[in-house]
Amino acid sequence: MSTDELDAIIVGAGFGGMGAAIQLKRCGYERIAILDREDDLGGTWYVNHYPGLAVDIPSTTYCYWFEPNPGWSRLHAPGAELKAYADHVADKYDLRRLMRFDTTVDGARWDEDAERWRVTLAGGETMSARFLITATGYLSQPRIPDIPGVSGFEGTLVHTAQWDDDYRADGRRVGIIGTGVTAVQLIPELAATATALTVYQRTPIWVVPKVDFPIPGAVRRAFARHPAFQRLLRWVTDAFSEVGISTAVVNYRWTRPVNRVAARVSKLHLFASVRDKRLRAQLTPSYEFGCKRTTFNNDYYRTFTRPHVRLETAGIDRIEADGIVTTDGRKTRVDTLVLATGFDLWEANFPAIEVVGRDGRNLGKWWRENKFQTYDGVAIPSFPNFLNLASPYAFTGASYFTMMECQMRHMDRLFGELRRRGGATFEVTEEASARYFERMSKRLGNMVYFRGNCAASRSYHFRGDATIVRPSSRGRALRESSRFPLGDYSFR
Ligand code: NAP
Repeated sequence: MSTDELDAIIVGAGFGGMGAAIQLKRCGYERIAILDREDDLGGTWYVNHYPGLAVDIPSTTYCYWFEPNPGWSRLHAPGAELKAYADHVADKYDLRRLMRFDTTVDGARWDEDAERWRVTLAGGETMSARFLITATGYLSQPRIPDIPGVSGFEGTLVHTAQWDDDYRADGRRVGIIGTGVTAVQLIPELAATATALTVYQRTPIWVVPKVDFPIPGAVRRAFARHPAFQRLLRWVTDAFSEVGISTAVVNYRWTRPVNRVAARVSKLHLFASVRDKRLRAQLTPSYEFGCKRTTFNNDYYRTFTRPHVRLETAGIDRIEADGIVTTDGRKTRVDTLVLATGFDLWEANFPAIEVVGRDGRNLGKWWRENKFQTYDGVAIPSFPNFLNLASPYAFTGASYFTMMECQMRHMDRLFGELRRRGGATFEVTEEASARYFERMSKRLGNMVYFRGNCAASRSYHFRGDATIVRPSSRGRALRESSRFPLGDYSFR
């Protein structure tokens, strides 16, 4: 098929891109290309495969609502099962033939005369399609810290998103920078085999116990035979996750005591795991629970009581060929340096590729000059036939799949109307977008990020007065996504 015949180009073959492709197919569009810079599908669950990786939201909730997986081995499935689930979805919904791997998209530009998106790939090739959907995820640009000397380290240097499965920490002196969710999962695993492990913590993280257990075979068989049973459990885990985010984050203004209780639970967990008072103090955050992504783990705190594991809280001054020097002049020799330093979200990912809409409007520039904003978490004025999935104000509920459910409902209504009218283009109006942004902005003051004590958290969930989290309940977000006024779009 010539690319001039494409209905849609989707950038990203993770759960976001696959969900968008499934929805487009349901709306009657079959000529789709899904482009991904990796050599396989699955997005974050293909790229991340460090030891200890597991989903920390119940797996019954962390999957497409229309494609329950009766096979999850645990309440919180290990990462490899998420990748296998992604493969299953791609096969079942016949998406693989639409995918093109090792394909990096440089940018996209709206061609007003042709009413098509012109997409440029690294290497210079161009493609075109009526619709462009960027599904590049929130956490897809690994952050390599600009610590002096990092590139001159002569031992094994690895970012957690570029893990080498053949690497063994046995007999090695390992240093790890970062104590985010990834590090919390990885540190106990590294400690199990390394000779010495030094953890460089800049900001402590709240950790609460993880309720996890294997799902017995009989239950899995019951899930397979009676999907309603699994749906019922999903309802429970959805509700549990929703209560967590809507109290601790979205409605903090009224539910502050919940954050206090959660912080107390974390402190009790720390107290039960660590006897050393000084160490406990070092591991205790000075910002409110909820400012950073909540972390669930039963082994993390205890790991610091092992004789070969050391928490280093002095800042890093520089990295030398064979070790790390802290600002107080002490040097720790390591032969492996793990960068659990997360992802660059606001700078490198909003947007992940250059997108130029009508009248030369550049998305990245426009967002920075007019504040980060997206109508219903997907649409931006002057960008016809374009949806950006992992957007500011898009993340809703506790699970990426809840966000996807909202966005697929939005697509269903939007593309349904476009087809009904026989239209060529859709575009959210400036007025509707401004109205939506104003409504979201008014609710920001209820969120923990802006009302709580989050100054010391260095959370990537918000920046300035913008956030990736939609200040709304899951139910409301779902309702709005399937009932937004069609007059908020102009169709041509
Ligand atoms: P992260 O939460 O951004 O944590 C990065 C860590 O690196 C932080 O502790 C940060 O310290 C530290 N760091 C960054 N640059 C540094 C520097 N120059 N010097 C010293 N320390 C530095 O990243 P992440 O742990 O990879 O997690 C990202 C997200 O992935 C999570 O929030 C979560 O949404 C997702 N995730 C999910 C799961 C799951 O099970 N579902 C598992 C893993 C990750 P500061 O805090 O001081 O900046």
